[in-house]
Amino acid sequence: MMSKTPVMKALIYHGSGKKTLEDMPKPSLREATDVVVRMTKTTICGTDLHILKGDVATVAGGRILGHEGVGIIDETGTGVSHFRKGDRVLISCITACGKCEYCHRGMPSHCEQGGWILGNTIDGTQAEFVRLPFADTSLHPIPVSAEEDAMVMLSDILPTGYECGVLNGVVKPGDTVAIIGAGPVGLSALLTTQFYTPANIIVIDLDDNRLKVAMQFGATAMINSTDGKAVEKVMAMTVGKGVDVAIEAVGAAATFGICQEIVGAGGRIANIGVHGASVTLHLEKLWSQNITITTRLVDAVSTPMLLKSVMAGKLKPKQIITHYFALDEVIKACDTFANAGRECALKVILSAATST
Ligand code: ZN
Ligand code: ZN
Repeated sequence: MMSKTPVMKALIYHGSGKKTLEDMPKPSLREATDVVVRMTKTTICGTDLHILKGDVATVAGGRILGHEGVGIIDETGTGVSHFRKGDRVLISCITACGKCEYCHRGMPSHCEQGGWILGNTIDGTQAEFVRLPFADTSLHPIPVSAEEDAMVMLSDILPTGYECGVLNGVVKPGDTVAIIGAGPVGLSALLTTQFYTPANIIVIDLDDNRLKVAMQFGATAMINSTDGKAVEKVMAMTVGKGVDVAIEAVGAAATFGICQEIVGAGGRIANIGVHGASVTLHLEKLWSQNITITTRLVDAVSTPMLLKSVMAGKLKPKQIITHYFALDEVIKACDTFANAGRECALKVILSAATST
């Protein structure tokens, strides 16, 4: 007797500029270390917008997008020992095999069988179900009392802002930190930089609404850089010394250029942004300034710590969420998120019909 293959709704990328909500076969287990998760909440990342524009060459047509979210385990492979059907889990944007050299070095972003593969080289989370490889080393259990919406912020943006911005920038008590870009990741860096009590946090953006939000989130000064005078304003605020840490959270030549001009002697430039074009490195000015420049793809190794901070109320990521949609409104949600300035959008939450 043949049973009909169950279907599910999913957001499919069909090449540059083309996306559709479609019925797709429900994913099934392939390896013993896989699980299948029924998604309850997911979201859209700036990276998804890059993919939809055709900027990310590794994403093939027909791919289900999404690398963030929470859900409930629906099926487990025979090799999965930490999770059972019915468990609520947080999905990490980084898949870790837990065994390769890079995983052992605490750098699963470069895992030989994982890394950023979800919604990239394998089907992702903007669907009713998702197959997740290496479940034991890539998923996190969600405490019973946790708010799911806040948990979604832990899949990507909080570890990214924290690891690539705050940890790589080595923020210390009393530092002056500048964050260039007040999107969801820049705001995540803003929230987590406060673990280290810097004296001043200057946030720079082109959008007044985002700057206003940054001030509510703990920034001590804001600069709208539309007039091209961000550098002189920062230098005036720091009596000509520049900042200790400049966190780049945009991914553009102009914003990386600002970081190079405002970093003070002994300072750190921590790049988070995804750069699609080359930038000019002003080594003729920086060579003698004891500067450190860092780059990193998020490893999501800080997620358990961040989760505990959220549960303890020390970190309140839910405030980054501005819009709520049903999962089958994902196309509308993409359009809202793509017009973030006009819509005053930061992070959107997509909820499955069956979730609470
Ligand atoms: Zn992302
Ligand atoms: Zn690995």
